[in-house]
Amino acid sequence: MYKYKKAADSSMYLGPLMRALSSEVNLQILSVLRSGSFHPRELARILQKDESDVSRRLKNLERLGLVEGKWVRVEGRNIRVYSLKAEEIRIDFRPGELRVEIGDKAYYKFPIRWETRPEVDLFVGRRKEIETLKNSKGVIVVYGIAGMGKTTLVANAFPEAYWYSMTGMEDFDYLAWQLGLFLNSLEWPDLIDYLRSGGKEEGEVLKLILEGLNVTKGTVAIDDLHRCGDEKVFRMLSYLVPRLRHGRIILTTRVKPNLGMEGVTYLRLKGLEPREAYQLVQLKGKKISPEDFAGIYELTLGHPFAINLLLESPNVWDKGGDNFFDFLFNEIYQKLNEDERMMLSILAIFDESLEYKALKSLYEKKNAFSVLYALLRRGLVERRGEEYSIHELLRGFVRDVANVDEKAYYGAHSDYLARKMSPPDFLRAMKYAIASGDSERVRELVALRIRRMGQVVADFPKAYLRILSPLPDAPAVKLEIGTIYFRKGFFEKAKRLWLEAEGELEGILRLEVESLLTDICVELGDLDCAGEYLGKTEALAEVLDDPYGWLSYHMRRTKYEFYRGNLREALESAFRELKAVRKLGGIEEEPLVLLHIGDIHSELGNHDEAIRYYTSVLDLSRAYGIRFLEYTSYMELTKVYYNLKNYEKAVEYATKALDYFLEIRNYRGAADTLAYRCISRIGMGELEKAELDAKELVRIAHSTNYPLAWAGYIFLGAVEEGRERDGSEYYRIAERHLKDNRWLYEAVLEELGKVFDVLVIRESRERPGKER
Ligand code: ADP
Repeated sequence: MYKYKKAADSSMYLGPLMRALSSEVNLQILSVLRSGSFHPRELARILQKDESDVSRRLKNLERLGLVEGKWVRVEGRNIRVYSLKAEEIRIDFRPGELRVEIGDKAYYKFPIRWETRPEVDLFVGRRKEIETLKNSKGVIVVYGIAGMGKTTLVANAFPEAYWYSMTGMEDFDYLAWQLGLFLNSLEWPDLIDYLRSGGKEEGEVLKLILEGLNVTKGTVAIDDLHRCGDEKVFRMLSYLVPRLRHGRIILTTRVKPNLGMEGVTYLRLKGLEPREAYQLVQLKGKKISPEDFAGIYELTLGHPFAINLLLESPNVWDKGGDNFFDFLFNEIYQKLNEDERMMLSILAIFDESLEYKALKSLYEKKNAFSVLYALLRRGLVERRGEEYSIHELLRGFVRDVANVDEKAYYGAHSDYLARKMSPPDFLRAMKYAIASGDSERVRELVALRIRRMGQVVADFPKAYLRILSPLPDAPAVKLEIGTIYFRKGFFEKAKRLWLEAEGELEGILRLEVESLLTDICVELGDLDCAGEYLGKTEALAEVLDDPYGWLSYHMRRTKYEFYRGNLREALESAFRELKAVRKLGGIEEEPLVLLHIGDIHSELGNHDEAIRYYTSVLDLSRAYGIRFLEYTSYMELTKVYYNLKNYEKAVEYATKALDYFLEIRNYRGAADTLAYRCISRIGMGELEKAELDAKELVRIAHSTNYPLAWAGYIFLGAVEEGRERDGSEYYRIAERHLKDNRWLYEAVLEELGKVFDVLVIRESRERPGKER
């Protein structure tokens, strides 16, 4: 009964359907039709509308499947009456697509398209190529010279693909985030969860990308691979080539990459066939004689972009020239009006596409849309979603002849991007701020980063470093580069940069550097030095009286007091921190501060208070969707309940945390949690389950060498002892693996001692092979 519509043609349909439903007159028509069938004239009378307008709307609603028209015979005449076809419309959000059901009569599937996908208005031929592409899985390379139609081909073959266009600025981490988001839209959240929890291990990210693509069978298009400067992207491709079986990664590139022969499909794109080229000419609405067409074809060999240009300037094709495209375009360029040249010049100075709003504000005149559209129609400009760019083949030429103040445009675009407040836009804003040569703008952006975009440094350190690198001597840039080093654990390098910048910075940047210097002294275990910088931070916070400044100071104060063992002072400071964070309205920070308060209470032995705060962390991070903190609070609750000897609750929370840590491949978190769960189970006398936990720990130990995981052997020994058997062999194995971490071995024994007679272990260690 269902009328199936293929995604390809129904995609034309979602927009009209939504538009139809957002018109009040249409809704009135539909609601009148609920009561029976009507002739358009009758309907028009009821609604007080023009009959021809109502007829037109009815036809449209009929085409959309919402109403039904029938011919009926009345007094010897055939008239058409309309009735409602469906009383409800259901919209289902499914992985990667939207499904719209109209009553039980029709259903339509719409792939959810990514706005980064290139627009394809007009497409001819390439049937064989499309078949090859659709029949291939794994890594597919489409290569060929610029303008040959690689992008257009792939966009046409895979409308649902996720698009990633290389600009030369990328960084693998950013690509991984984008893939994480894409896979998440296909209901596979593991990669994005891993990254959001701070996971950075390249091997894990690669495994997750592979698994995600294989499970979801997703298609990713990476456009213009030849522009990519990050070797990690090529490592990813080499990793995927022999392993990717179900999903697809399609690369378009001018240069054939060396990815081996096994497991890769290479498709070299050549010109259009004469028949296809002729069709293109016709679809462009150009009337040319067969002789002229033969001439065009001979000159272009079916290169679609060249054909487009020739059609714009048909008189030049017999003139030839040194640089074909420059020559050709020169002719066209001469005929463009001032506005069109201006628009092209703006597009040409940017290496990437610009969204319409940005372009409009750079262009400044009112006719932006019509100018852009004229260029688009002639194939000189390309569109991706809401973004526009000049074709690569023309960029160099226009840049050479255009006479525009590049720096002013870079500056204006930087300001535009900064207002968008997202990390990728921030990175681009910084790139253009530096290109604009205005160091005040760079300083302002750093201040913005400090206050509002902390995650940029954590999430995209490589890209940020690369963007900052042209201006290494600016004090604000030194502050930022130092922060990146600090995050990576290069403390000395970071400190050196900050000390160089310290005296030259002012305001919030100065405060930031003082508080970071406090952090570094704490990390290096020099609390006197930390105290000195903390004092400077406090003095500045008072002068500036800025909410971020106060938060920054209180955060350091809490940490400093905690490390000095002044738990009461730490707690007081943490509450001031909480007040500051609430004043700022920070989302990620509030649960984090609450977590610290919980930790301090826990350290003070105030278990009930600790539980109260950890539970708030749980509620808040759940509400905000911060999964890492949500599960970290389960982990902390596990510890508190364990300390309270409520083993049952400890096991319950540990189980929740564990599943998550394993899912996001955080083996430290997983091992810590497993250790608590295992001891709790021993405490409850559940030896079989404890044994399974211990074995899991041992497995993690063997694959990661994380010291605590070796405690799995101690627990295996304890389980044996609990069963009245000899566990000494296991203890010896544990000791061997932990010989450089003696304190850890002892600490685990001490914990175990709370639930188990550790003397047994000590004795059995001293008298190996003892009879029992
Ligand atoms: P590439 O990615 O190889 O540089 P593009 O896909 O950008 O090439 O194509 C260049 C131009 O040629 C675009 O303006 C596009 O519209 C046009 N074009 C390419 N292939 C076709 C095709 N099969 N049908 C119609 N136009 C095409």
